[in-house]
Amino acid sequence: MSDQNVERVIIIGSGPAAHTAAIYNARAELKPLLFEGFMAGGVAAGGQLTTTTDVENYPGFPEGISGPELMSQIRAQSVKHGTRIKTETIERVDLSKRPFMVATATDEYFAEALIIATGATAKRLNLPGEELFWQRGISACAVCDGALPIFRERPLVVIGGGDTACEEASYLSKFGSTVTMLVRRDELRASKAMQQRVFNDPKIEIMWNTEAVEAVGDKTLGGLRVTNNKRGDEQVIDASGLFYAIGHTPNTAFLDGQLETDETGYVITRPDSTVTNVPGVFACGDVKDKVYRQAVTAAGSGCMAALEAEHFIVEHALEPAAAGERV
Ligand code: FAD
Ligand code: NDP
Repeated sequence: MSDQNVERVIIIGSGPAAHTAAIYNARAELKPLLFEGFMAGGVAAGGQLTTTTDVENYPGFPEGISGPELMSQIRAQSVKHGTRIKTETIERVDLSKRPFMVATATDEYFAEALIIATGATAKRLNLPGEELFWQRGISACAVCDGALPIFRERPLVVIGGGDTACEEASYLSKFGSTVTMLVRRDELRASKAMQQRVFNDPKIEIMWNTEAVEAVGDKTLGGLRVTNNKRGDEQVIDASGLFYAIGHTPNTAFLDGQLETDETGYVITRPDSTVTNVPGVFACGDVKDKVYRQAVTAAGSGCMAALEAEHFIVEHALEPAAAGERV
């Protein structure tokens, strides 16, 4: 293979992490090639922000900005600085030697360094009524959407019993009139400290052994039909807001176990860095972050990945031995 076939850096993903990495690498004249995916992980190119309305907590937009518009502007900035974009999904990789290989359904590409920024997809229940009220009362991110006027002093519901659910319920109790947690078992999965936070909050009520059956309302969400899975009875509870906190699925299946991940599939990186267990492969954004999960933190780690990839390329690009046997 001639050097012309080998990219300096390939970036996989299309959210704030991927494009921030691309902006930095493009300005460093590494001519990044970015695969933005085609409905990869069930989400359009642009990532999770394409599934939301107003983003009010991304710096630089005092009046807020719509998620799709923000991603469109970030993408335009990335292209302006020289990022080359392919609207294709990476389906498999070979990280066993350098240059690394990434493959779409039809072609293979090679790179000296690789940045994985494929994000995560919030799990949904696909309840009857969910599509109708998605972003009209139903959300998968309380920290992002909870402060919106439609949720102020209204009854709110969180589904889930993990740390995220407890954190989101505590956060929402500042805004809603009440917060009801629907927990499908008779105990929480969350850490003891998080459990104590919700038990101590007078605005939070927990409905144990309870599952949602249907989202109901008129133009916006008004209530939830729920069932007690022990007794079998159903009732409709008031809900102007419904927040899923039932976990995320990191988009790492295409890596086929070639990068170290935790038991839930999140890529493990060295503390305070984007370095993975494979030298030359970096991971940033929600694909490696199950705690903060915000656009600005994803963008921040995208910057880190770009700088670390650049250092790696400078240090290792001229070492023929490091380029493996792929010639
Ligand atoms: P993502 O945004 O997850 O994007 C990654 C994308 O990469 C995927 O969506 C897909 O298009 C692409 N991809 C995946 N696999 C492949 C592949 N194999 N090949 C090629 N491409 C691939 N955060 C905030 O800060 N403020 C908010 O107001 C806010 N609102 C939100 C509202 C909702 C409903 C949701 C779900 C999230 C919200 N967030 C918000 C969180 C924020 O969207 C995420 O933290 C952020 O988008 C993560 O960015 P990322 O770059 O890591 O990846
Ligand atoms: P978890 O997987 O820990 O919890 C998911 C919750 O959703 C569980 O209570 C689960 O119920 C419930 N659930 C899953 N599927 C359904 C369903 N179909 N219907 C109803 N309920 C459902 O996810 P989290 O996002 O809470 O946490 C992920 C990781 O991130 C954890 O390791 C957590 O500790 C960590 N984290 C840490 C934080 C912190 O330290 N501040 C903050 C947020 C997350 P069941 O228990 O019955 O399976």
